[in-house]
Amino acid sequence: MRFDELGLSEKVLDAVKASGYETPTPIQEQAIPYALQGRDVLGIAQTGTGKTAAFTLPMLSALEKGRARARMPRTLILEPTRELAAQVEEAFGKYGINHKLNLALLIGGVSFSEQEAKITRGADVLIATPGRLLDFADRGKILLNGIEILVIDEADRMLDMGFIPDIERICKLVPSTRQTLFFSATMPPEITRLSEAFLHNPVRVEVSRAASTVEGTTQTLVRSGASPEEKRTTLRRLIRTANNFKNALIFCNRKRDVQVVCRSLEKHGFSVGALHGDLDQRSRMAALDSFRNDSVQLLVCSDVAARGLDIPDVSHVINYDTPHHAEDYVHRIGRTGRAGKLGVALTIVTRADARSIDEIEKLIAQKIEWQAGGDAPVDEPAETAEAPREHRGGRSRRSGGDRGRGGAERAHSGHSHDAPAEREARSAERVHGDRPQVAPAEREAARKPQPRPEEPRRQPRPEAPRRPRRDDDGEARVIGLGDHVPSFLLRPVRLPTKPVPAEAED
Ligand code: AMP
Repeated sequence: MRFDELGLSEKVLDAVKASGYETPTPIQEQAIPYALQGRDVLGIAQTGTGKTAAFTLPMLSALEKGRARARMPRTLILEPTRELAAQVEEAFGKYGINHKLNLALLIGGVSFSEQEAKITRGADVLIATPGRLLDFADRGKILLNGIEILVIDEADRMLDMGFIPDIERICKLVPSTRQTLFFSATMPPEITRLSEAFLHNPVRVEVSRAASTVEGTTQTLVRSGASPEEKRTTLRRLIRTANNFKNALIFCNRKRDVQVVCRSLEKHGFSVGALHGDLDQRSRMAALDSFRNDSVQLLVCSDVAARGLDIPDVSHVINYDTPHHAEDYVHRIGRTGRAGKLGVALTIVTRADARSIDEIEKLIAQKIEWQAGGDAPVDEPAETAEAPREHRGGRSRRSGGDRGRGGAERAHSGHSHDAPAEREARSAERVHGDRPQVAPAEREAARKPQPRPEEPRRQPRPEAPRRPRRDDDGEARVIGLGDHVPSFLLRPVRLPTKPVPAEAED
């Protein structure tokens, strides 16, 4: 099918042509004709499928008739994160190049007054995160009863972030006669319920199940020891030995680990930025821009901050932590292998992650290969403890302190555990200098289907260690003194020779 068969206006078709798109993606092909008829659409699609244009293009066509009134936006797009909102704004800039439309962005972390001025002027398109929008509505600064089209994007992520009550409130503030375009990558029961409550006789459009959207991506599991030091060592090895490496998104499960991992990589001379929800908006945008324009090669991020971001050319996704939710895995690895390019997804797995891996394999309906090698992380030789030379960002090679640090990490693993392929990879690194190289043996191993080494979860446990309790964001809690007994407790106890006086008791 061609774009000009979808029913889009001339202005929109011209902009699409200028974007260089030749044919509509499946979600565009299936959703746009119905959206143009004014039907509600329930789109089950994740980012990377072209879903932003699937709602932006028909909206632009519809907006050609009519004008915005002060404080009464005509269309509303709800996004779970500020980055996604900014990305949709960008898409409107690109596809709406032939339209004179007023756009307004209502997101947290940006000055209220500037945003208010845009709303007061009258917005054709309002792109908002739920919290900031409700702030405006509660203060009487915006009226939502002129909304003709409502888009709820990334609904399952809204659920993860606790935004469903906000969405329900917003849906009640917009006229029931509006058209609703609703997108979600997955349909858990709460999302099904929400869509049933707020969509009228929708057309259901489902594009390739999450599983099949990762077809162009080579997925590999990598065993590692569980301590942060061991995991960071494994991470550095993966970066250094990666094949066809251009850049990588590195995912952590917890925000605070994003900072720790980022700082560690920086200390080791890598060109790296961080993206997580605690950073202010400016820092988040700056980190993203540096990654997009290649001035940093590595971006360490949390799920929420990175969800749905359109970064077209990511060669590697590395899961520093195995995600707790299988769907997050699909979203993370969906960042690589986009637009027909081949991608690589590496997941660092510790023994505690066995159940999460089971869930992931169930969701994607395939087994993921393990990287050849032992259970312990591979140590790095001192001479390769610096960043690969082609890492841009101007950081100099480090020595001294970093080597010392590398040495400290070596104490945790030790060469005796190394698999031959990994030892070869290291010697190749020495021969080729700092460039990320893969030893022939490892490259060969990666090409051939690997005999699946015994997976840790299927081995009988020598003794059943007690599972540590985890707090809400997944961090293991130490119970009592953990395994460590302070030396003062091991000292011999000298009992008092005299009986204790009665008044001293109690
Ligand atoms: P999205 O799923 O909306 O995040 O889009 C993913 C990427 O696909 C973006 O970089 C778009 O610019 C691109 N894209 C969207 N529609 C098309 C199309 N019809 N042909 C080629 N690329 C597209």
